Amino acid sequence: MQHIARKRFGQNFLQDKGIITAIINAANIKETDTVIEIGPGLGALTMPLLQRVNHLHVIEIDKDIIEYLRKLPNQNQIDIHDGDVLRFDFNSIAGKKKIIGNLPYNISTPLLFKLSDYVDNIIDMHFMLQKEVVERICALPNSKDYGRLSVILQYFFDMEKIIDVPPAAFEPAPKVDSAVVRMIPDVGRIGIVDDINEFSRLLTKAFAMRRKTLRNNLKGIVSDEEMAQVGIDANLRPEDINPQNYVLLSNLLHEKTQNKG
Ligand code: SAM
Repeated sequence: MQHIARKRFGQNFLQDKGIITAIINAANIKETDTVIEIGPGLGALTMPLLQRVNHLHVIEIDKDIIEYLRKLPNQNQIDIHDGDVLRFDFNSIAGKKKIIGNLPYNISTPLLFKLSDYVDNIIDMHFMLQKEVVERICALPNSKDYGRLSVILQYFFDMEKIIDVPPAAFEPAPKVDSAVVRMIPDVGRIGIVDDINEFSRLLTKAFAMRRKTLRNNLKGIVSDEEMAQVGIDANLRPEDINPQNYVLLSNLLHEKTQNKG
């Protein structure tokens, strides 16, 4: 089909057969798995997926592409969900799911946050993302890439970069490098937070100014003594604190607010 790539939908279509095969192999899909592909586009991943799995769900926003997908010969094998993935209820599909996609980069961060709400019903996810985002979400403490996004997503998922992908693998070529990440739900790995919203708010404040100390960023919220109670030195910068300590600090704050109420 003749299709002019739409920038507003982050359309960069995968062309490189080697990369496509590497993603499909990494996802390790069995015939009976419940698989959802986000943003099937013109089918670069969809067609090989249909060879591996009995049934495939796809979520696509572009009306022209949906029309094209509805004409594919494999209709009995595909459920096409027409609309914005950011509004999609992943629980509307029964069972534990494997999710895969060459994601539209412009919505990748809100989408990853949204998917965190569904961890209990996800087996794993394999996504093509902007390489910079993959490096940020997988980053460990004491590195320039480590930040709020790393800590929040590492709370929910065990993550690993699988392959780097150059712009030439797509048509049109994006301006940035890409990478594929594997994300496996693993809540509890760095502890359990009592209140996820409080954890998120704490991280926003803690990382508000990266060059400042934690004492500075959390002034009026938590004292040096309280930080010391959970093993945090208030003189350190937010990027020097490991995810486990942020969980402990969040729970201490939660307990404090509960006691006040
Ligand atoms: N999977 C195809 C490939 O690899 O060639 C296309 C990938 S392209 C980077 C992203 C796809 O996501 C496009 O088909 C685009 O129309 C679709 N898309 C963009 N925003 C979306 C949204 N909010 N909800 C659902 N699909 C979206």
